[in-house]
Amino acid sequence: MAYPEVVEELASPSQLRLAIGLSVLLLAVIAIIFPDAATPLVQLPHVSGMYGSAIAMIDLATFWLLISSSHQPRSHAVIAAAYLFGGLMAVLHVLTFPGAVFIQGPVIGSPHAVSWLFVAWRAGFAFFIIWAVLVEGRGQPSRSGRSSRLPAVVAVIAAAAVYTASQLSDAAALATDGHQQRFSNFSVYGAYLAAVLAVLAIGLIWLRELHRRSIFVWLMFVMTAEAAGVWLSTYSGGRYTLAWYTTRVEGLVASAVVLLLLAQHFRRLQRHLGDTVAVLKARTDDLQAEIHRRESAEAKLAQAKKMEAVGQLGAGLSHDLNNILQVITGRLSILHRRAGALADADVEVIRRNVRKAEAMTRQLTLLSGRRRMNAQPLNLAAALADIADSLRPLLDGRYPVTLDLAPQLPDLALDPLELEIALTNLMTNARDAMPEGGEIRLSACVETLGEAGRVVLIVVTDGGAGMRPEVLDRIFDPFFTTKEPGKGTGLGLAQVYGFAKASGGHVEVTSRPGQGTTVTMVFPLGRPEGQARPAGLFSAAGPANGGAPAMGVQGAELRSDDPDPLAASPIRSGEVILLVDDNDDVREASQQLLAAGGFAVRTARHAPEALSLIAAGLRPDVLISDIVMPGGMNGVELARRIKDSHPDVRVVLVTGFSDVAQSASEEGYPVVRKPYDLASLLSVLA
Ligand code: ADP
Ligand code: MG
Repeated sequence: MAYPEVVEELASPSQLRLAIGLSVLLLAVIAIIFPDAATPLVQLPHVSGMYGSAIAMIDLATFWLLISSSHQPRSHAVIAAAYLFGGLMAVLHVLTFPGAVFIQGPVIGSPHAVSWLFVAWRAGFAFFIIWAVLVEGRGQPSRSGRSSRLPAVVAVIAAAAVYTASQLSDAAALATDGHQQRFSNFSVYGAYLAAVLAVLAIGLIWLRELHRRSIFVWLMFVMTAEAAGVWLSTYSGGRYTLAWYTTRVEGLVASAVVLLLLAQHFRRLQRHLGDTVAVLKARTDDLQAEIHRRESAEAKLAQAKKMEAVGQLGAGLSHDLNNILQVITGRLSILHRRAGALADADVEVIRRNVRKAEAMTRQLTLLSGRRRMNAQPLNLAAALADIADSLRPLLDGRYPVTLDLAPQLPDLALDPLELEIALTNLMTNARDAMPEGGEIRLSACVETLGEAGRVVLIVVTDGGAGMRPEVLDRIFDPFFTTKEPGKGTGLGLAQVYGFAKASGGHVEVTSRPGQGTTVTMVFPLGRPEGQARPAGLFSAAGPANGGAPAMGVQGAELRSDDPDPLAASPIRSGEVILLVDDNDDVREASQQLLAAGGFAVRTARHAPEALSLIAAGLRPDVLISDIVMPGGMNGVELARRIKDSHPDVRVVLVTGFSDVAQSASEEGYPVVRKPYDLASLLSVLA
């Protein structure tokens, strides 16, 4: 973004008009004065001192500004040198002018010096301007790229040489004519030479077509003032005439115009810089915002991938663990039966621990963001109030829960159980963050966000310890906890994350150390208020075939066995059970469990084997089948095939995968989750 240098700027029409107007005014003043030019006025030698000092300051300032540009076109340096020369000569003029400083005579130099200096001063300035015009290319500005010091050196040497010459010469400035001080011939011719050089400079500027550029426009004005002033003053014949005083004023005006031009230039430059900085800042802000957006998108993606991997791991692990727990449960029942009441206490302890392990496998499956939700339209206000009530005992009196529900919350399709787990997790976190006690707010409202449209926000806020950014970055990571062992599992927020994701929403957390934490679950509202349609990706659970109502998934609640679960058994002894499971241990344990109950059990390792048993004439009354099995056919399909030919067969499906359990129950078959015991199996069959 190059900004034009002063010499490169074209004169605006208004600038041109001003320069022409001033020139005309100047010439008009001179024309008016002309008849009385020689009129002697009172002699004030210090006017020369003031005049010289003012010009010295203006010219040196102009010089300084001109060489302050970073890259100067060639003529820049020469014009600058003109002003340096002018400034130095003005200083010498003041020092050598008799009466300018001391009343009696000059500060330095012989009495001749002043005339030499004045003539050389005016002529020399015009000479430098001619030099500048000659180095400047025609029309177009030329940039040398490097600034040259030569013109300034020439200016200094010239000033020194002129002063030396003035001391060696005896050319007098004045001839005293009675009381009047008259210019000597030397002064008169010298001054006319300066005027001629000034006119020459004007002509050259015109010839070289530089008169469109603003600095040369003003130099033309300066040269006009120079030529006219020097001529008039000399014509008037001596010092302290009307013309002499008038031309001093004109000289001051003329020397100031380029300085004013420069001041304007720098003002524009500053404004331009200001604008550029503002534009740059806006761009930087945009860039930073973009970087931030990307970073957070990447972070979200990374988090999603991590959760996906962990979720898969969790689901697989919990399936295997459930099979193992199934074996343990089955064998435990058999053992219990054999050992009788003696083993009651031990069995109860083992059962309790199996229950704990099973609860843990459930937590593992909760990690998966892809898990199936048992979503159903919830009256949010009522659901949240219920959950808050049910959590009060957990939070005791030191943690009052404030409910802040917006009026007319819409119905929202969510899995009520998972919602409760999520809020429990959030409230326990809030509690843990406030060891001294404190208020916990649970609020819900509807908002319209840009892209997402209308969303429901469920927010839990605490005024607790808050989190440092390093912690905040990792809170959704499964097993990430800052709590001491036994107090935290690091699974709470992972569940919240998975729940929100699987429900088509997301979670936002804001927190600062010492300033509390706000966790917001954001759920999109699929439809306008009132129509309770499930939001997002998931659908309400229900029988897909519209036939027999689904029984839903029976949790594998390991109730301690009734004294005799078989007393009211829905399976009559003598009935044949076909048990299909690919896991040898599970199959055997279940077989023994059922056989111990007095049933005739036939087993198969997978669906094809089961079908071949039936083809060979087996007529089972009950089919108990694992759902996920090798052999190209799963339990649901197997059940359908057998039902086709034997509609009376009663079916129970068994699985260690919770999401599979969900879809199978949608087919209308009762599903039992592993690990199960005889009692829960029978109760499902009933
Ligand atoms: P856990 O509570 O078992 O540690 P979470 O996943 O629920 O696991 O939380 C992970 C971590 O996030 C916590 O250990 C804690 O450091 C931080 N955290 C969560 N909620 C809050 C909160 N409301 N205030 C301060 N820190 C919190
Ligand atoms: Mg927690």
